[in-house]
Amino acid sequence: MNIYLKYTFLVFVNILLALTSSFAQNNLSNTLNSVVIDAGHGGRDPGAKIGRTTEKRIVLDIALKLGQLIEREFPEVNVIYTRKNDTFVPLYKRVTIANRANAQLFLSIHANYCGTPSVYGTETFVLGNHKSADNLRVAKKENAAILLEKDHSVRYEGFDPNDPVSYVIFELLQSRFQEQSINLAAIMQKHLKLDARRRDRGVKQAGFLVLKNISMPGALLEVGFMSNPSELRYLGSSSNRSRVAKAIFNGFKQYKKAFDARSNYGKEEKKVVQKSTTPIKTTTHTYSIQLAASRKKIALKSYNFKGLKKLYRYKSRKVYKYCFGKYNSITLANSELSHVKRKYKDAFIVEVNNGIVSLPKK
Ligand SMILES: [Zn+2]
Repeated sequence: MNIYLKYTFLVFVNILLALTSSFAQNNLSNTLNSVVIDAGHGGRDPGAKIGRTTEKRIVLDIALKLGQLIEREFPEVNVIYTRKNDTFVPLYKRVTIANRANAQLFLSIHANYCGTPSVYGTETFVLGNHKSADNLRVAKKENAAILLEKDHSVRYEGFDPNDPVSYVIFELLQSRFQEQSINLAAIMQKHLKLDARRRDRGVKQAGFLVLKNISMPGALLEVGFMSNPSELRYLGSSSNRSRVAKAIFNGFKQYKKAFDARSNYGKEEKKVVQKSTTPIKTTTHTYSIQLAASRKKIALKSYNFKGLKKLYRYKSRKVYKYCFGKYNSITLANSELSHVKRKYKDAFIVEVNNGIVSLPKK
């Protein structure tokens, strides 16, 4: 056998082995395979209400349509609904449902309302401190659901949805999942704009109780203003609600694709690198920390790499290697490695010679 062919074959076998083993052992954590769909309000809580149209009905329909799309295209994804019919589910219970299921994503679906009928469009919220009275207004409206729970002052430790002072707790709150949630929210806004042709009011932050204690990335989508007559008409139509559901589904798909690419390829790195090492004699070389490798070209954005900056991408034998930092000595690289390992536990040091990545020679 020609030596080059033999070599290529070995690399190929290694990629296959790495792929199958990562699928076998890590089916649960490696790909996005669970999502919570939270239809806002329900039962005795109608949410916003204009005439006979209620927010609870609009958002339940969108939630069910969205769930159906996910179940149909991704049968391996576990879709968890906080409600599937017109029942009242307390906010704390929605959080418990999501956390008990160990879900990887939380999507809360709502429709907006404000005193100015000319205001329209979609906005997606992540947990955080509100930067405007307008954002606070939305949080107040959605948190008011707890007033319908009889033990709310005990359950939510005296939180008063209508009192701005109560929102102080959100000021110092920093969610572990904030970056991923912002990324998710931006994807959702993009698809609502492009696929459902909704007016994009942007990604915003406010103190939502339903997002406060979830242990996964999550966002709250306000799919349109019921206080705007034309948007109310739009949301009143079942085929339009299907469009909105499809747009959110496309957003889910994009988020899942990036999620799966990031986590699946991390494992295959080491083996590929070890086999494809081609020592090249050169006097200039640096050290770096390899985080992941992938046949896909992933944008060097910190949100794609667990918040890390100083990212570099090298390509060898059709595989992109994603690295962090550039160091003149292996000692410097080593001192940074333990820090990086907290985010990427399989990260390792590589030597970079003229753009070619190899394992450091001992
Ligand atoms: Zn709502």
